[in-house]
Amino acid sequence: MAAQTRLFPYLPERIKKLEDLAENLWWSWNPSARMLFKMLNRQLWKETNHNPDKMLRDLPNEILAKAAQNPEYLRDYDVVISRFNKYLEGANSAFSDKIDKKETKIVYFSAEYGLHHSLPFYAGGLGFLAGDYIKECSDLRVPLVSIGFMYPQGYLFQKIREDGWQEHADQEINREQAPISRVVDKKGQPLVVQVPLFDPPVFVTLWEVRVGCVTLYLMDTDIDKNDPWNRNISARLYTGDIEQRLRQEIVLGIGGSEVLEKLGIQKSVIHLNEGHAAFAQLDRIKDKIAEGNSFDEAVNNIRKTSVFTTHTPVPAGHDVFPFELMDRYFQTYWQSMGLDRDRFLQLGTHPSEPQKGFNMTAFAMRMAEHKNGVSRKHGEVSRKMWQVLWPDKTEDQVSIGHITNGVHVPTWINPKLVLLFNRYLGTDWMESHDDPVRWELVDEIPDDELWKTHYWLKTKLIDAIRERARKRWMDDHISPSNVLASGTLLDPSVLTLGFARRFATYKRADLIFFDPEKLYKLLNNRWRPIQIIFAGKAHPADDPGKLILQRIFNEARNPVTAGRIAFVENYGEQIAQYMVHGVDIWLNTPVPPMEASGTSGMKAALNGVPNLSIKDGWWLEGYNGENGWAFGDELSKQRNDSSDATELYRLLEEKIIPMYYQTADNGTPAQWVRIMKNSIKSNGARFSARRMVKEYIENYYLEAIKSI
Ligand SMILES: *Cc1c(COP(=O)(O)O)cnc(C)c1O
Repeated sequence: MAAQTRLFPYLPERIKKLEDLAENLWWSWNPSARMLFKMLNRQLWKETNHNPDKMLRDLPNEILAKAAQNPEYLRDYDVVISRFNKYLEGANSAFSDKIDKKETKIVYFSAEYGLHHSLPFYAGGLGFLAGDYIKECSDLRVPLVSIGFMYPQGYLFQKIREDGWQEHADQEINREQAPISRVVDKKGQPLVVQVPLFDPPVFVTLWEVRVGCVTLYLMDTDIDKNDPWNRNISARLYTGDIEQRLRQEIVLGIGGSEVLEKLGIQKSVIHLNEGHAAFAQLDRIKDKIAEGNSFDEAVNNIRKTSVFTTHTPVPAGHDVFPFELMDRYFQTYWQSMGLDRDRFLQLGTHPSEPQKGFNMTAFAMRMAEHKNGVSRKHGEVSRKMWQVLWPDKTEDQVSIGHITNGVHVPTWINPKLVLLFNRYLGTDWMESHDDPVRWELVDEIPDDELWKTHYWLKTKLIDAIRERARKRWMDDHISPSNVLASGTLLDPSVLTLGFARRFATYKRADLIFFDPEKLYKLLNNRWRPIQIIFAGKAHPADDPGKLILQRIFNEARNPVTAGRIAFVENYGEQIAQYMVHGVDIWLNTPVPPMEASGTSGMKAALNGVPNLSIKDGWWLEGYNGENGWAFGDELSKQRNDSSDATELYRLLEEKIIPMYYQTADNGTPAQWVRIMKNSIKSNGARFSARRMVKEYIENYYLEAIKSI
């Protein structure tokens, strides 16, 4: 079985390797590789939404022929291709020298992956964590294979109606033009695998994404062989229909497991990124029973080689399936494992609500020896939350640890900053970017250089927002007030706050509107105004979330806010990049302790955008008193909108705004730049995906491998 190679018949021999480059997302985190495509034709690069695959297909032959004879282009091409080849051959590893068996594989399951905006298979933080994770595993040469879904309709394409209500437009992905390749069998036919448990049967076909040295397999149920209901299983991420959702999770876990078997991939260790794929464990238990083990022995065995990462303390974030639905799909399955109904269903019951159904998180917790939350605080919260599964243990004894999330530095740092850091941190700083000592050299960067770079990035952000607003105005003839609400009046000289995340109610996007009059004063201060850029999607079924969004949108349209509130539609990876590079402050106002970790603030911090955040999630570890601002009461048992908002206004009025506007003669705000530098220095290494992946290796993978 192999990935079908793409044919670009007009690609001249001299630049033939562009094909390999286009087929590996390595280009997405290597600016010089991106430049190779962009240089061919800037306009098409933009029009294809930065998709090299589509670009190579659409480019006129003359352009390709010309590039193949342009000495300057060829010089860059040779350098990039040589780096690419070195990368793929590289054996550098924190890991491979510690395992002896070549075929040992860590298998990573996730329902979503956020890799690049040309692959819209994500809803939010969980997906980006998974995407960043596999990129870093590639950089560290971890022998990992990952599996998930290809959602032809992605998550949702957001459009805000005239009255501020979120609607979603359908947008079908064109598989032939996405940077994915079909997996074919020996005869060159699309590989099709049957998923057990379904009647009528369900088949999946497979797509492959090359992520550096890691392969991501994406399952797709939208094929002729399936009946319409089954075809739709993988249509979109997180469907609201509970039965379809159960079917999705069966396909992800059990189907995914079967697929790997078909591909000949050994599941030496499995890592479940959240509980959605936990049924994969059933398939492993079944295999162990087939080898002659009893059920208990089988469970014992697979537990030792399993890692489960839980991501949310929000109860609605854990899937619970009613027992009658479980009966419908698993009846023959439990029999084949030698279990009766009660014993089987008990694997997933939550002791405090045993009648509610099969809880995927409870099941995943029971089936994995290595378990973790995603920040120190979330580790604590998870031990408390799940202690009920181990009644003979105290909270402290519950074996759920924590590994704080991190972000893939090459993906999220802006290339302009990379150039700046190359000059002052040494050209090889990226190779040792998880070493905090190296980042101390950020102090060597002259203040005005850092400030100018930041200011330039802020201008780019505002340009990009205006460009989108212009397009929407022209394409859809939206009302002028909506054009203004989407950010046309933003001013780069004004202190700019950014708030971009899912519009789940606990994230409290509207906290800063708690006292509108007070906020209007801050926005409209004649000498020291502020402006705020919002972006984010509410889940399609989350009306309270949509109401918050509507309120903010209507504030943005209100002349009282003077165009200083902007709402940018259809938040995704691209807007996130612009925002984490270009705003002055990253605002984060969740109700503690609901934010398990949060990662967008890490992306901002890395780019010199200090956090102004509630004490929750990663910021409890990140904040050191000099690298941003923290507020709120982490221990409070109830929601404190009033006191949190008061503290937020006070910080803005007394500390943040004066500091930002206190500039030297050359326009550089010295104290502010100090905070920016502290933010980069203290968070760059510590919240890198490299530090995170190394911890998973040391704490869990190596342990798990010992018991294979
Ligand atoms: C990083 C990122 C997220 C996750 O951000 P949180 O702060 O964890 O909510 C969500 N969406 C996009 C597009 C991102 O880049």
